[in-house]
Amino acid sequence: MAEQYMVGLLGGVIASLLGFVFLYCNFLIRFRGLRKLNRAASMEFPKKNSVNKTGKSEGVGTTDIIIVGAGVAGAALAYSLGKDGHRVRVIERDLNAPNRMAGESLTPGGYLKLIELRLEDCVDEIDAQRLLGYTLYKDGKEARVSFPLEKFQSHVAGRTFHNGRFIQRLRKKVASLHNVSLEQGTVTSLIEENGIVKGVHYKNGNGKLLTTYAPLTIVCDGCFSNLRRSLCYSKVDIPSYFVGLTLTNCNLPKENYGAIILAHPSAIVFYQISSTEVRCMVNVPSENVPSVSNGEMACYLKTQVAPKVLPELYDSFISAIQKKGNIRIAPNKIMAAAPHLTPGALLIGDALNMRHAITGGGMTVALSDVVILRDLLRPLHDLSDASTISKYLESFYTLRKVL
Ligand SMILES: Cc1cc2nc3c(=O)[nH]c(=O)nc-3n(C[C@H](O)[C@H](O)[C@H](O)COP(=O)(O)OP(=O)(O)OC[C@H]3O[C@@H](n4cnc5c(N)ncnc54)[C@H](O)[C@@H]3O)c2cc1C
Repeated sequence: MAEQYMVGLLGGVIASLLGFVFLYCNFLIRFRGLRKLNRAASMEFPKKNSVNKTGKSEGVGTTDIIIVGAGVAGAALAYSLGKDGHRVRVIERDLNAPNRMAGESLTPGGYLKLIELRLEDCVDEIDAQRLLGYTLYKDGKEARVSFPLEKFQSHVAGRTFHNGRFIQRLRKKVASLHNVSLEQGTVTSLIEENGIVKGVHYKNGNGKLLTTYAPLTIVCDGCFSNLRRSLCYSKVDIPSYFVGLTLTNCNLPKENYGAIILAHPSAIVFYQISSTEVRCMVNVPSENVPSVSNGEMACYLKTQVAPKVLPELYDSFISAIQKKGNIRIAPNKIMAAAPHLTPGALLIGDALNMRHAITGGGMTVALSDVVILRDLLRPLHDLSDASTISKYLESFYTLRKVL
């Protein structure tokens, strides 16, 4: 069992490294395929904008695309579609900087996607740290695994950072576009008429119930999505939880490398999230999750996990456990991408599909989804025929599968 677990975990790490190589090759292949697809699409859809302007509610005819959620996927998508001239309305539940311990480590493949989206400066000025690979530790032995970056310019590398700082940089870019509106509100439901999604109901920042319409709604409301149920097969597996701590006053053994301790039953991951802080994530299998609130988790970390921590990180690890409110916990969800094709709506990012967080690939997949979708939508200037558009966008789910 322990062996299987280790092999699975190592497989995850190797998969994420191979994923990076694959992402690069895939980019070249897909780019050629898309050029063909886009040529076909521009023949099928005339460039004239004929969005239906005859509705009665707010927003009809003024918005081409509604985006629900301005996390990594929603914000990057809004910027890219706005840059391409689409009129976009983004509704985000909370425009304050998120305070999450998720989405803090971006692979080099994800950074390449930021470049494709012209968003690479969003990792500047946030004290992001370069990530060149991981050192793996097991039974007193260690092995260094580096990202294969030889063929790239020196700025291409992974990045680790505070998720909230990165998200706010993305949102700032969105807010700079005059054809994109970014507002605070919570989408409560999709408006569906005869099987076609026409828009959303939402509560704005003042608690007022509003309705807005557009020919296409793209749902990017993350892994706790309350909208995905009607748009995809909604089964969720939770094989484990990540217990997170922020460590200070310590350095990782090798600069620009994260550290992964392949311990049993809890693998432990460390990476720098700023020049002064290290994130520690402990993977705790679902069958055995001690309670944070009654102190059992702190005890588990001290007695079961701390003895396996690298000596140079030990003191900071113990101090982090003792710091009030510093132990956080998040489910590692696995959600297959199994959408029900619904005219007028599309799901991307974690709302569509999630892999185990230890692969560190969620943001890379979300950004890759954004590139695919942006390229598919680029030639379309008339989104009003929901059924035809839905058929056309079916290829999104095929094109994304290679990642
Ligand atoms: C513990 C953990 C660690 C992780 N670590 C990494 C990592 O190191 N690297 C990595 O690449 N990935 C990591 N991931 C995965 C990564 O966080 C996600 O893949 C990524 O955030 C997905 O982006 P998203 O935009 O789809 O969703 P989110 O980033 O969750 O954004 C969703 C947005 O929608 C908003 N929203 C939600 N509901 C509504 C609503 N009803 N109306 C309006 N707005 C709404 C939310 O406020 C939020 O801003 C981790 C995940 C977990 C759980």
